Amino acid sequence: MEITHLTVPQWKTQSGLLHGFMGRRGGKSDGVYAGLNVSYRVGDDPKVVSQNLCDMKQAVGIHDGKVVTMRQVHGDKIIEIKDKQLKEAGEADGMITGEAGIHLGVLTADCVPLLFIAPKQRLAAALHAGWRGTLAGIAEKAVELFKQRYDVTADELAVALGPSIGVCCYEVKDDVAGPLMKKWGKLTTPSIAVKDGKSFVNLRRLNRDILRTAGVPGKQLHEIGPCTRCAPEDFYSYRHQGGETGRQISIVGWLTA
Ligand SMILES: [Zn+2]
Repeated sequence: MEITHLTVPQWKTQSGLLHGFMGRRGGKSDGVYAGLNVSYRVGDDPKVVSQNLCDMKQAVGIHDGKVVTMRQVHGDKIIEIKDKQLKEAGEADGMITGEAGIHLGVLTADCVPLLFIAPKQRLAAALHAGWRGTLAGIAEKAVELFKQRYDVTADELAVALGPSIGVCCYEVKDDVAGPLMKKWGKLTTPSIAVKDGKSFVNLRRLNRDILRTAGVPGKQLHEIGPCTRCAPEDFYSYRHQGGETGRQISIVGWLTA
């Protein structure tokens, strides 16, 4: 099966940008991990995971560059990456780089992968936002970091929010909906639905609205791909497989400075 990935149509004109949201199709893992699992931390055979990473890099056109990943912990820490030899950035849920040739990779299975670009300055960032990261405001923190460290304003950013669990499937209890509503207030009106006394969260919409409020223009915010739980053939979904499953990768980086 062929490895496929989704890209942002509006980013096609960005020369030197490499980005994509990979799914699970085309990899060599099997069983509950069947497909292109790229996580060494979910119990899959590490040899097969390495092969998957290699195949994935070839498929997207990274021939000798590195893909940097991080030990994701559902927090809001964002690390700056400068070392081209680095393979893993340590404990964090976001990475930002201004170095050409560094490709940032974020692993998900229902959580929201966010890819940021600042085209003029050739910067990129990748974030992982589940409900905890969303509650902590990791997307807003990334916008602040671009400003503080690189003097990039919010209106110079474009952000793609990738395949993640939709409002159709993401039922939560009050321990999740309550804190999100308390923290984000009116912003949650379009992203938390209540049906028959049950709450459903649209995490991608909420992150999009957080970014708009932080100053990123709506026309530069792109939601890419389906609900992961509704498309289990194409994407790993933690909820669909009851927790034991693989992780897909989303990548962003500039090939040239
Ligand atoms: Zn769904």
